[in-house]
Amino acid sequence: MTILVTGGAGYIGSHMVLELADAGEPVVVLDNLSTGFAWAVGEGLPLVVGDSGDQALVERLIHQHQVDAIIHFAASVVVPESVNDPLRYYRNNTVNTRALIECAVKTGVRHFIFSSTAAVYGDPAKIPVPETSPQQPMSPYGWSKLMSEVMLRDAGRAHDLHYMILRYFNVAGADPRGRAGQSSKDATHLIKVAIEAALGARDKLQIFGADYATPDGTCIRDYIHVSDLVRAHSDALRHLRSGAPSQTLNCGYGRGFSVREVIDTVKRVSGVDFRVEIAPPRPGDPARIVADSAQARAVLGWQPHYDDLSTIVTHALGWERELTKRRAAYADQAKRTAAGSKR
Ligand code: UDP
Repeated sequence: MTILVTGGAGYIGSHMVLELADAGEPVVVLDNLSTGFAWAVGEGLPLVVGDSGDQALVERLIHQHQVDAIIHFAASVVVPESVNDPLRYYRNNTVNTRALIECAVKTGVRHFIFSSTAAVYGDPAKIPVPETSPQQPMSPYGWSKLMSEVMLRDAGRAHDLHYMILRYFNVAGADPRGRAGQSSKDATHLIKVAIEAALGARDKLQIFGADYATPDGTCIRDYIHVSDLVRAHSDALRHLRSGAPSQTLNCGYGRGFSVREVIDTVKRVSGVDFRVEIAPPRPGDPARIVADSAQARAVLGWQPHYDDLSTIVTHALGWERELTKRRAAYADQAKRTAAGSKR
């Protein structure tokens, strides 16, 4: 039985594919490569380039590969971008997820794991935030994911479809063995941006808002190592395959760091004191969000291995250095090919 991983060429998806392949699970990756990279999919693993909303393609893949479970990562994930271009987010995230759920129902795929987000909570009154907290997203991104959750829940009630909704907090870090990491150009996520500043790829880092009602005035987030996050998916899959009921679970560690604390950690781990300036707050940013992760631990037996900000930053920094080397090698190769073709 095969697992269909949508978005498997992207940041989190590529780590998931490695973990499944390491465990000997057959996988097929579906990715439109809009933000992912073909090279990020482990060697020898099937990658199909296409949209998760292309129902004819998805149904064909499900039949061809005898898919019994879908892990759905493919999505647009940048909060401020969703504020500026909401309809793209509702299409890429909500409409495509509806199509994928329908494919699962039509073809009899019984297990569905969905990448949701802490953004469904908006600016929660209670910290750490349990899964039962009111859902009041502050951005189209959060709404696009919440709408998908609702569809999945209702489809699960009506059909033989069992799901796990995992609400990710702030995912960061890279494969501890150095095989994968966050590779997108134009990154916006804090740890990646700070590391780029440390390595000289940016001339400065901006802090978006320093007057929030937090101890140092900057926003607080719960940063989770990508390898611990994908482990929660493997645990969730085992849970579903054992016949356990559908669930919605937070994926975070249950402790928060401010933007300033993250910057200090990146400076300390990298040994580089890069420039930092204060900028206006970003629309759609809550002041503080930290997971209550008791449910994931209790229900799935999930045990994080990398719950340490310095470790997350060390792995992310290692990957960024590797990426810089790879980009230089590709550029060099392209230059030599171009010179050769001119001769
Ligand atoms: N942030 C920042 N400067 C940056 C990127 C992010 O100050 O260059 C802040 C952002 O405003 C938020 C926190 O860092 O308070 C985490 O943002 P990120 O984009 O990493 O994740 P989000 O919480 O939006 O999913």
